[in-house]
Amino acid sequence: MTSEQAGVRLGHGVGKITLPLPFPSPPSVNAYVLDTDEGLLLLDCGVAWEPGRSTLEKGLADLGRTLGEVTVLVVTHLHPDHVGMAPRLVEETGCRLVMHRRAATLYERYNDTPGLVERTRLLARRHGVPHDLVDAVADLGPRPDWMPPLRPPDGLVEDGDRIPLGGGRALEVLHTPGHEAAHICLRDSLTGILFAGDHVLPRITPVVTYDEALDDPLGEYMASLQRLVDLRVGLIYPAHGTVVERGSKRAVQILLHHRRRLAGMEEVLARGPATAWRVMEEVYRPHLTPPEQRLALGETVAHLEHLRGVGRVTSFEEDGVVFYRLAT
Ligand SMILES: [Zn+2]
Repeated sequence: MTSEQAGVRLGHGVGKITLPLPFPSPPSVNAYVLDTDEGLLLLDCGVAWEPGRSTLEKGLADLGRTLGEVTVLVVTHLHPDHVGMAPRLVEETGCRLVMHRRAATLYERYNDTPGLVERTRLLARRHGVPHDLVDAVADLGPRPDWMPPLRPPDGLVEDGDRIPLGGGRALEVLHTPGHEAAHICLRDSLTGILFAGDHVLPRITPVVTYDEALDDPLGEYMASLQRLVDLRVGLIYPAHGTVVERGSKRAVQILLHHRRRLAGMEEVLARGPATAWRVMEEVYRPHLTPPEQRLALGETVAHLEHLRGVGRVTSFEEDGVVFYRLAT
């Protein structure tokens, strides 16, 4: 293998292609390629831009394959660094797009950038962002052209389904909501290796932001992590970064990160009622940029709503702004 190679063989008929992304963090996304009886299965595809597209073709060539052989594109979740190129690949190759059942309706939300801006603005106001900062925090900019609108998936899967690869081998579907409501992981029945999307990443903790599609995004995320612990997951092939060797151990680390953060927020509320914005300012590092503030606020609301759901805190409203306080 040379550093020029975009496609790498991981053994057991699995290929990995590292696709560049048009933003610094994360800088790339891993697409995986597996053989099926009816052509190639591609797992995740990066955003719709030329460097990604040409790297995908080059990576397939490194693996001795071509784009025309792709018959099914499975996407782990509805974020542009995973699904962005899907509309173009479906159109060009005629492959089927397969996602979790929830994507059948949530794709409309993915397509609706003005709606997302409006929901973010409402969330910011409701959770105590100062008036003069609301616009900056909710400003998502124009919709990038590497994120063309999606059509509904051609195939829907749910937890427990098996996507056949041939010869009795299959990818077993685990619905793992939290990072995104339609997120799935896929376990290779032959090797036990888990293709984890963004559910578990090697060095960073995936963003778990407030999401109106879920009652308790953080609770669902933590339950989805605990599931990997209970399954004693070993090797993980993540969507960003390098292989995770002890998957369930990494899941435990991420669980602990969130438990510490929950405890930190309870400490802030022990000093008196506060908005999510105020809690965020105490718990996150200072000098965040507005986009970072947006993510941090969404995460803070997800944590506080989880604490409210489990009875640790209560909330009340004043002039349309939500305050949290410790439950007595
Ligand atoms: Zn991602």
